Amino acid sequence: MVPGGRLVVLGKQGAGKGTQCVRLSHHYVIPHIATGDMLRAAVKGHTQLGLEAKAYMDAGELIPDEIVLAMVGERLDQDDIRSRGFVLDGFPRTVAQAQGLDELLKPSELDLAINIEVPTEVVLRRIASRRICEDCGTIYSVELPPAVDWICDLCGGEVVQREDDTEDAIRRRLDLYESETAPLISWYDETGKLVRIPGVGSPDDVFDQMVAEIDSRRQSGGFGPPIGAEGGWR
Ligand code: AMP
Repeated sequence: MVPGGRLVVLGKQGAGKGTQCVRLSHHYVIPHIATGDMLRAAVKGHTQLGLEAKAYMDAGELIPDEIVLAMVGERLDQDDIRSRGFVLDGFPRTVAQAQGLDELLKPSELDLAINIEVPTEVVLRRIASRRICEDCGTIYSVELPPAVDWICDLCGGEVVQREDDTEDAIRRRLDLYESETAPLISWYDETGKLVRIPGVGSPDDVFDQMVAEIDSRRQSGGFGPPIGAEGGWR
């Protein structure tokens, strides 16, 4: 049995959060919750949430905290999360969301917040070449495309450039990262839950460093038990 965990992965757009979160989710057998993917699915499915979210997303603005918190709260209430934990990707993005997350997790706690650190000029280059599967959210790039003609290797979906990966929307998202999301780093640092990982190496190097940090924190007793489960991780 691989023990579960409650993880948050932070980092600028293009820092590699999506790619690393998928790997962490497989490695530790924990559900991956990506708020951007959930919101894109809602937009694609023309749900009420999708209709509300689309204009914010196209402009690179943040969805209001209460809407995102309600969406995440519903997901965190499901059985797989209670028994295994989660790796959160793209959430929290504001201190208010982080405080809301703490409330949602009570009586448990977050185990670790991992910040993937990458300079802005590197993320700008990465975002410009980023492509994404419309159906399953797998990330590719112009340098590392799918094997056949922009068809997803994993699910056969169409691989496209994200609608909000325009120059203006990217600039706005990076500004918002500095004003809204960067303060989270100090917030988590003060609670002793933050680890910083340099994100400029190869995806394998970054992943290995994350796993080393997570395993050493777990060994030193930094990880709590599952939510409300007496028998440990299932
Ligand atoms: P991402 O795929 O994480 O870059 O998210 C794409 C877009 O979804 C963002 O630019 C926001 O408009 C919206 N979004 C995703 N997660 C959040 C969040 N935690 N809070 C507010 N807006 C979010």
